Formats: sequence, structure tokens, C-alpha cells
Amino acid sequence: MEKLSNPQVTIEIIKKYNFAFQKRFGQNFLIDGHVIEKIIKAADIGKEDVVLEIGPGIGTMTQYLAEAAGKVYAVEIDKNLLPILADTLSEYDNVEVINEDILKLDIEELVKEEKGNLKVVANLPYYITTPIIMGLLENHIPAKSITVMVQKEVAERIKAGPGSKDYGALSLAVQYYAEPYIAANVPPNCFMPRPNVGSAVIRLTNWDNPPVSVRDEKLMFKLIRASFNQRRKTLQNGINNSPELSFTKEQVAEALIKLGKNENIRGEALTLSEFAKLSDLL
Ligand code: SAM
Repeated sequence: MEKLSNPQVTIEIIKKYNFAFQKRFGQNFLIDGHVIEKIIKAADIGKEDVVLEIGPGIGTMTQYLAEAAGKVYAVEIDKNLLPILADTLSEYDNVEVINEDILKLDIEELVKEEKGNLKVVANLPYYITTPIIMGLLENHIPAKSITVMVQKEVAERIKAGPGSKDYGALSLAVQYYAEPYIAANVPPNCFMPRPNVGSAVIRLTNWDNPPVSVRDEKLMFKLIRASFNQRRKTLQNGINNSPELSFTKEQVAEALIKLGKNENIRGEALTLSEFAKLSDLL
């Protein structure tokens, strides 16, 4: 079968199965082979790798993944896509399609017998990008890396550092678990149907050990959320107003001074390592 990255082949399959795109599942299928090749290259997929693909759609990227990897698990929520995937992936015997919601699937259980390196690769459904990425990271899925297509704006937020307007709780949360690298920007015309926003491919390489040490990880993340909840407020006020926390303004000010910071500083000026130190001081 000719590859689905040829838009004509995609159109034929959509017609053959009378497939109706579901907006609620974030279905924007790739129709550009060069973009898929860039994703496979950024993810550095080889025969020794086991790939978890989230949302294979009609199997466009899965065809490339099956050729590059040792084994592919493709988890798709939309059961209407199953007969299509059986057709478009019929040439590949190393792909297992699983009809599940990725947010409910026990990934560790799924891959527990696998010996190769696990790598996650996906053109993510944009309506649940953050829960998927944070779920994979916080649950310590045994993956070497996560290479995903996301909204350009989300990729910029993930990658941002202190002082940037995009820097926030998402940047800090992801960077605690992994090192982000933006591999490509992808315009709307590479998808069918076209999304309203620009996209980017981001690779997250999981750290073997967290880049900072902190006594209470949960407290640090509560402090981070509180600091960015009210962006224009000082960190002292943000933490003091948080329903999740019970520190007084004086306690926060004292900790900030010990950190060598001005007590009126805002959250966006602190690095991950400073949040870790602030958490330990409090
Ligand atoms: N990988 C295909 C491609 O690049 O052409 C499709 C990508 S499309 C942006 C996202 C895919 O994720 C859709 O096939 C959609 O049905 C699927 N999806 C949406 N929510 C899902 C979920 N919770 N679990 C698994 N798959 C999901």
C-alpha cells in the first residue's frame, strides 16, 4: 500500500470507510511525510526500540514507526478507526493496536514484558495535551523520551525559562522530569483537517535523576502552582492566598530573604532550583 502521508491516499481511505472526523477527539491527521520523518529522527527510533504511539488515527505515522522500530503499541480511543487501522497496517506484524483511552490505560502493565527501550511518540490530541504529558511524567512511565506534536504555544511554554512571558507552572513541572528540545515547527497545512493553530514537535528526554533535589516534591509543586496562579501578584501574596497552603506572608518573606531574594519578587523570576530551596526552607 502506498503511504497515507500522501494526501490522496488519505482521502481515498477516508472515503472508502466513510469516516467522519471527530472534533471532540482532536482528530487532525498528518499528510506530510517530511514532517513524520523529522519526528522519527527527533525521537531517534531504531529496531531496538519499543514505541508507544498515542492516537494513531488512520495509521499515518504508525506506518513509519513500524518500519523504524522493533515493536509499536498504538493506543486509539476511537473505535471507528479500528477497521481502518486493520487495513492500513495490514503489512506490519510488529504493531499492536489497543482501543483504549490513554488517560485510563496502565502503560507500565502493557510494556512490562518488553526488553527494549520504551519511547513515546505521538501527534497528540490538543484538547488533552497537558494531562497526557504530565500523566506520563508524574507516573514515571519507564520511557527514555517522549516526542510529541503539540500546539506551538504549548511547546514554547514547556521550553521557557525564568523571565520569559511563557514561563510558568508547566515549564517547571516538565523540566523537573525531562529536558525539552523543540525539534520542528509545523504549519497547519501539514494536517487534514487543518488546525486553527501552529504546531511544534517537542522531544522530552527523561532525566535519569531529577536535576534538583527537594525534600517534599508535592510541596514544591503546590508552591509553584500558587506562585503562577495569580501572575501579577508577588510570590508572597500568591502563596499566602493559596487554599492548598497555609504559610503566612512573614514566613514566605523570611524564606525569600534566606534565599537572597527580595521579598516582593514574583514567581516568574525563580528558577526550578530556587523553588526547590524555597520549598525546603518553608
Ligand atoms: N497519529 C495520527 C496522525 O498523526 O495522523 C492522528 C493524530 S490526531 C491529532 C490525535 C489522535 O488521538 C486521534 O486519532 C484521536 O482519535 C486520538 N485520541 C484522542 N483522544 C484520545 C485518548 N484519550 N486516548 C487515545 N487516543 C486518543
